Amino acid sequence: MTALLKHIQEDIRLNGPMDMARYMSLCLGHPEHGYYMTRDPFGVEGDFITAPEVSQVFGELIGAWTLDGWMKASAPDPVHLVELGPGRGTLLGDLLRITKGANGFHEALHIHLVESSLCLKNVQSQAFRNYAPAWHSDLKTLPDDAPLIVIGNEFLDALPVHQLVKTQNGWNEVVIGLSEEGHLALGQKEADPAIMKHIPQSLLEYKEGDMVEVSPVLKNYLNDLFEHIQKQIGFCLFIDYGYTGFTPQKTLQAVQKHQHVSILHDPGECDLTAHVCFDTVSSLALEKGLSVHGPISQKSFLENLGIRLRIEMLSKNATPGQKKGLEAAYERLCGIDQMGELFKVIAVSSDPSLELEGFICA
Ligand code: SAH
Repeated sequence: MTALLKHIQEDIRLNGPMDMARYMSLCLGHPEHGYYMTRDPFGVEGDFITAPEVSQVFGELIGAWTLDGWMKASAPDPVHLVELGPGRGTLLGDLLRITKGANGFHEALHIHLVESSLCLKNVQSQAFRNYAPAWHSDLKTLPDDAPLIVIGNEFLDALPVHQLVKTQNGWNEVVIGLSEEGHLALGQKEADPAIMKHIPQSLLEYKEGDMVEVSPVLKNYLNDLFEHIQKQIGFCLFIDYGYTGFTPQKTLQAVQKHQHVSILHDPGECDLTAHVCFDTVSSLALEKGLSVHGPISQKSFLENLGIRLRIEMLSKNATPGQKKGLEAAYERLCGIDQMGELFKVIAVSSDPSLELEGFICA
């Protein structure tokens, strides 16, 4: 039995069944036993691999994109470069390496890392010891005195969701309670109106049995961030699992050692993620008067940024084994049955005339 399972069982005995958002935030973020608090989960040895861990090319292209955006925005100095959920810091490391020679860019940068895991913060402080970054456990402490560039890869999918189910008598919420034997078990309770108000109204009618996932935490995060971008000017980029065009569906999943497992399996020992509704991201940005680019597929974005050219360049001096590795990385990042279509990219900017690269088809 995991330490977190014991804690969750006691919590349910005391307070009754808990909703999925609370379960997800305990599993990922419990200060002592949460998944991200206790480990570096990335890579072949870990539970899953993210795009920057697949190949340096990913972070390099995002680096070129960031530099291009900064130059087109008249090269503000100082500028706050914020990464949300940097993990091992691989993306930012590649971004900084590729942009090192750019005139004035590094001199203008103030780096901010939004990270809730102490364990990953330690990994990041090693990786960026020459850049004196500032850490934030959420967006509340982000600076408000200069333009912002914000990047988040596989960050939004870690924010907790509630699951609601349409029944004959209205909406129910999925909750986790205890079976007679004391095991975690899924159940339902009548949904709270405060959660129901987040259900997208884009569908005229939901059918009995439809499931909808909503994330008030994600909305609060984006509202705070977009307010910063509106006031301080700047732009942001999100890359994540997700969908556009709302359809009721269940996307919350648990992954352990590269395998899908039940969401109730080994709480605190598996990664839990939910696909991001990109329509929610766009509409919150538009409500704040910001400009939206995309969403488009990761494949289109990376191809528009010249991933093929970069792979060919790197292949020139590569050994046959390295060449094979580069082609495999391209397939993993852009393959339509791999990350290419399921992952989407969206950018939001305070300046409607700013032409951010990657969103216009080459
Ligand atoms: N961007 C990295 C890591 C993605 S995993 C990559 O692409 O490899 C998610 C990251 O977000 C981890 O660093 C995790 O610790 C962090 N994280 C998850 N939930 C968070 C939250 N609510 N606040 C701050 N950081 C969070």
